[in-house]
Formats: sequence, C-alpha cells, structure tokens
Amino acid sequence: MRGLMQDWPLLCSKVIDHAANEHPLREVVSRSVEGPMHRTNYREVRGRALKIAQLLEREGYGLGDRIATMAWNTWRHLECWYGIMGIGAIYHTLNPRLFPEQLAWIMNDAEDKLVFVDLTFLPLIEALAPKVASLKKVIVLTDAQHMPETKLPNAVAYEEWLKGADGDFAWKEFDENTAAGMCYTSGTTGNPKGVVYSHRSNVLHSMIAQAPDAMNISSSSRMLPIVPLFHANGWGIALTTPMTGATLVMPGPKMDGASVYQLLTEERVTCTAAVPTVWLMLLQHLEAHGGELPDLERVIIGGSACPRRVIEAFQNRYGAQVVHAWGMTEMSPLGTLCAIKPEYAGLTGDDLLAVEETQGFPPFGVEMKVTDDENRTLPRDGKTFGRLKVRGPAVAKAYYKDQGAELFDDERWFDTGDVAHIDQHGYMKITDRAKDVIKSGGEWISSIEIENVAVGHPDVAEAAVIGLSHPKWDERPLLVCVKREGREPTKEDVLGFLNGKIAKWWMPDDVVFVDEIPHTAAGKIRKTALRDEFRDYVLPTA
Ligand code: AMP
Repeated sequence: MRGLMQDWPLLCSKVIDHAANEHPLREVVSRSVEGPMHRTNYREVRGRALKIAQLLEREGYGLGDRIATMAWNTWRHLECWYGIMGIGAIYHTLNPRLFPEQLAWIMNDAEDKLVFVDLTFLPLIEALAPKVASLKKVIVLTDAQHMPETKLPNAVAYEEWLKGADGDFAWKEFDENTAAGMCYTSGTTGNPKGVVYSHRSNVLHSMIAQAPDAMNISSSSRMLPIVPLFHANGWGIALTTPMTGATLVMPGPKMDGASVYQLLTEERVTCTAAVPTVWLMLLQHLEAHGGELPDLERVIIGGSACPRRVIEAFQNRYGAQVVHAWGMTEMSPLGTLCAIKPEYAGLTGDDLLAVEETQGFPPFGVEMKVTDDENRTLPRDGKTFGRLKVRGPAVAKAYYKDQGAELFDDERWFDTGDVAHIDQHGYMKITDRAKDVIKSGGEWISSIEIENVAVGHPDVAEAAVIGLSHPKWDERPLLVCVKREGREPTKEDVLGFLNGKIAKWWMPDDVVFVDEIPHTAAGKIRKTALRDEFRDYVLPTA
C-alpha cells in the first residue's frame, strides 16, 4: 500500500515562497558593492527573483541551462539564485579567487550561457568572455548610475534589465531531482570537478542544517554568512535562512575585522559562519581596538580546522558559543557540527575544549564511518584513524561528466579523502587529508594536530606541517611557521611549546620560518605548493 499524502515536490522556489508568505517583512540587510548599506525583505527578494525568472525565460533560457554568478554575498546575488532556480536553470557559482585559466576551464566545462557579475569582478569577466564560447550575455549587478564603460558587446546593468519585467510570473514546476546548482571543487590534483546539487538535496540540506544541534537557526535569529555563496554552496545558508525566516545580514565585499565587527554589532547579529581566517582577523581587530560582542550567540567555524585559541577567545572572552563544523562541497556542504551531547555536558576547561576541537557529529541525513584501506570499518574509539566515508540525500553520487568515479563505491559511500577518527559518542576528528598524512616508520602522524598545537604559541601566526623524506623513517614532519608581527620566536621556543602536547615521535624534525604560507582559492593551506617549495630541503636528522 502506498501512503496517501500529497505530492509536494521539494523545489527551492517553495523556500522563498515560504519566506515571503510567512516572514514577508523580515529584513535582508547587505553591505552593497557600491558602498552603502542596503535593506530589503523576503517579500521584495521574492518579487525581484520572479522578475529575473520572467526575463530569463523570455530571453530563451530554461531547464538545465547553466547560469553563472561571480558575486559577493548581497541581496542581489540571493535574488539571482532564486530567479535562476525558479525556471529550472542552474546557478553556477564562480570563485573569483581562482586563476583566470582555471575559471575559463570551469566555465567551458559547465558551458555557462550567462553570467551575473559584481562590479568588482567585471574586469575578470571581460578577460574571460572571449575564451568562453557558450557565454551569450553579461549582467552587471549594479544600477545605471554605477554601470562602468565596458567593451563587452552584450552587457547590461542589472537594475536596468529588471525594469523590463513586471514579475507577473509563476515558478516553473518540475521533478525535485532536477539540478538546481553547481559548484566546482578546487581539486589540488587534476581538473576541478563539478558538483551538481538538486532541488531536493538543497531543500533537504536546509531542513537538516537548521536543527538545534546543527546551525540552530530560527525566525528570531539574525544570521551573518561571511562564507561567500561561491564557497561550497555557501554552506547552504542562502536556503536555510529564508526557510527559517531568520534575518539575513550579508557582508558584500568587506570581510576584514573592522567591517565584520561593525556588522556584528550594528546589525545585532546572533549567529554567523566563516572559515577560521576570518575569525582570526576579527579577534586581532578586537585585541587591537577593543570592543564587545553582546548579541552574538553562536559562531559556526569550518572549512579548515579551528584552532583552540579561537574557540577559547570567543567562549571565554566574548561569551559566544563556537560550533566547529566540517563539510565539503560534495556534501552541500554540511557533514558534522560540534554541539554538546548530554554525554559531554558536565565537561569544563581543557576537557570541554578538547571535545569542541573535534568536528562534532552528523545531523540526521548524514551517515558516516571510518575504514581502513581494505574498506573494513574501524572502531569508534577516538583514536584509530582511517578514511572517512559518508552518504546521505545531500551527498554527491557522481561528479558532472563523471570525473572521479572511483570516489563512490557500490553501496553509495563517498570517500571524502579526509582521514579521521570517531569516538564512542560519535564525535569525529579530522586528522588529515589522505594525501597529507605523514607516514613515519609505518605509522601515521597527523599534520593537522601538530599545526593546531603550534598556532597556540603566542608568537606564531600560522603553521603548516608537511612530511619530508627521511632515510630511516620514510617520512618525518617539518613545521613551517609564519611569525606574528613584531615577534621573534625561535625553533627551540616552538619545539619547547610542543613538548608534552603531542606524542614524542610526532615532534617535528625541524622548524622553519617563512613570510607566507601558500593558500588555495578557498583559503586552505596549499600543501602541494609547500611540498614543492621544500622538495630539496634536507632535515637535520636525515
Ligand atoms: P571544500 O569542498 O573546498 O569545502 O573542502 C572540503 C575539505 O575541507 C574537507 O574535505 C576537509 O579536508 C576540509 N575541512 C572542512 N572543514 C574542516 C574542519 N572543520 N576541520 C578540518 N578540515 C576541514
């Protein structure tokens, strides 16, 4: 017997309809690219998204077309996502921090037909457009007054373009498994891989993400996503926030400490999300200029491992709870978040911090296990680490055009490429990327764990650990550090600081200081580049 419930396809248009119907006047506040703050609400966002959909359809775009965006987090970018999805076309977020050659490759692979671009990135699109044969039109996210001269033949100012529609349009209906969005992962080897989200996966992911043990967002929240929409599906926040009716505050192009502080306080933000680098900048700003964060309740931190000193500063000094989260582009992107279960409720001090340094446990909708190289499931003992595998309704089952098929097995488990352990209460801790683990004497050393301890040193700004070849042990760790401004730590200082905090045999064989550690376009440490840089370096122990 089949259930007798209605067919109500999980389409993303339903999310903005819900926000506009049930929370119509809830504000969407943005720092505009032109400069001033801009205020609108869900009813207006929906109204303008309908105009976008109407115009796109009139101009011949439709189901399955890839429509790119290269834009900061603003109300206009949000409208574009819903307008594009509303006709069954696919928003394709472009990361402007990638190299132009990579962007051209990605746009050609996706066959983008149109791009919505912020003023900031117009020069980049001007350079790319001649290299992307599929690209027919460029819409610049600004008004006539701010529209610059451009040599692009088919470019219009967004606000002018919108005047051509009245918004009398109904969202298109289609199967919920239809593609809604697309985001390429910045793979460190080979070509980038396209991840394709569906309407169903986006809607389910948003329902999963808002739960109390996940992002914990409600209509009373005031959410500031600093993570850009072009990183890993914007952590799903462009859907989760309207779904809950929370106020949405967006940073536009400014993510420095002073600008973030201004938004947090003036807009009374209760919940915010970004990578650790953003929080280090904010904390440095607060250290230098003073200030309090009276409204901030929760800081969601992910993308790379969150150093203990960041957790400590937010919780002990500013009274905001840190939620350490892990995920990936392929997971829409949430995988685990670190809420405190009753099993750990009594912990305080360093014991609590040790739990909060883990990436937490998965919400309903993410299954997770750790296996050895022969795919045997490893015990949940908090120390045995292996390959982290996941599955769920918002986890990729293939890449666009099927590159990297080997990452998905017959039982639909996706090999994340991360190495982790899980403890008895289900808390997962990432110890490395599979390709970054250091193999010393047949045992694995976690580079991330050493890095996390090293950045706790008051004179160290950033740390990265790589494995260098060693005649006896196969590989041994080299610690690469950036000094804090005005400080002069020595190798002995740093090693002394690590002593007793990590296993003896994990102690780096050497410490070197550099001016800068290379980063990927998503702000993660680029270990491949670092390994290249130190390829000929000989460890003193070798
Ligand atoms: P991306 O798809 O670009 O978001 O990258 C996903 C990868 O970032 C994951 O596979 C992890 O290696 C890393 N990552 C994300 N969040 C964390 C975290 N909280 N701690 C450590 N690594 C993380």
